Amino acid sequence: MPAHRNVARAVNAVLDLAPRRGEVSLPRLVAAVSASRGRPIELTTARLPRGVCGQWRQYTDRDVFLIQHGLPAWDRTLAHELGHLVLGHDGIHVVEAAQEETEIASTELIRYMLHQRTGCLGPSGEDAEQEAEDFAALLIYRLGRLPSDRSSIIQVRLGEAFG
Ligand SMILES: [Zn+2]
Repeated sequence: MPAHRNVARAVNAVLDLAPRRGEVSLPRLVAAVSASRGRPIELTTARLPRGVCGQWRQYTDRDVFLIQHGLPAWDRTLAHELGHLVLGHDGIHVVEAAQEETEIASTELIRYMLHQRTGCLGPSGEDAEQEAEDFAALLIYRLGRLPSDRSSIIQVRLGEAFG
């Protein structure tokens, strides 16, 4: 699995944050990243525009990962959005985004939201999208290779993960 060195390093850094005991699930890793940054990361499902798997919204005081409602491979999308965050791929400024996507052009959102990044992997793949995909693939692969009592990537259900 060829992943660029910075992607592999980012995956290692996230896995280093994993709790030393107990199961290591993706939502737990997200919580660990949040704690290490001292900034909340919220997970939620949403009815996003057609064809969109996930969205990362950066507010002044927190980050929010929105996962498309009913998405079967939500863990992959969550890992992808986490990749954008830890790799420092800031989304586009929401005012610019609002000019392109009228559905988020609410003044309330614009006031509190700094950046957003939306998308599934595009067909040709912008570099940042490819990096986030590589990050997600490697992170899920590494999680799957943890001792079975520590990896619960399969067992965690979406409902439990998102409370
Ligand atoms: Zn992306």
